[in-house]
Amino acid sequence: MQIFFNFAAKFEFNLFNCNVTKMNPTHIEHIGIAVKSLDESIPFFETLLGTKCYAIEEVADQKVRTAFLKIGQTKIELLEPTSPESTIAAFIEKNNGKGGMHHIAFAVEGLENQLAEAKEAGIRLIDETPRGGAEGLSIAFLHPKSTFGVLTELCENKNK
Ligand code: ZN
Repeated sequence: MQIFFNFAAKFEFNLFNCNVTKMNPTHIEHIGIAVKSLDESIPFFETLLGTKCYAIEEVADQKVRTAFLKIGQTKIELLEPTSPESTIAAFIEKNNGKGGMHHIAFAVEGLENQLAEAKEAGIRLIDETPRGGAEGLSIAFLHPKSTFGVLTELCENKNK
C-alpha cells in the first residue's frame, strides 16, 4: 500500500509540474529504430511487416544512413551509424551493442511556432530551430528529459 501511495504522490507531483504545450500532430510520422546494420535489418523488417524498404538515404549531418518502410501513413525509420561519433553509434553502445527503439516522430504544422511555444512552456529543446532531415522534411528534436524519457522528433513536410 505504501508503494502505491509513493507512486501516486510522485505521479501527482509530476503532473503538477509538467511542462507542456499543445502540438496537435496530424499523425505519427515515423518511429526511429537504431540498428547496427541496414543490410541485416532491412530484410528482417521487410518480412516482419510484409512491405518493401522504399528508400535509403544518408543524412550526413546526423552521421547516419536511414532506410524507410511504410505502414499506412506511418514509416519505420531504420538508422545505421556511419561514424563512431554518430549519436546513433553511442545509443547502440549504451544498449549493449544492440540497437533499439530510438525516437518517435510526430507530423506537425508550423514547426517554428511549435518550437517557440514548447520553449516558452519550459520544454527543453535539442534543436532551437528546424533543420533538414531525411525525405526533405524539416525536423527538430525535443529533449527526452522534458518528454518522459522519450526522444521526440517533430517533422513538417513543407513540400506538400
Ligand atoms: Zn527520425
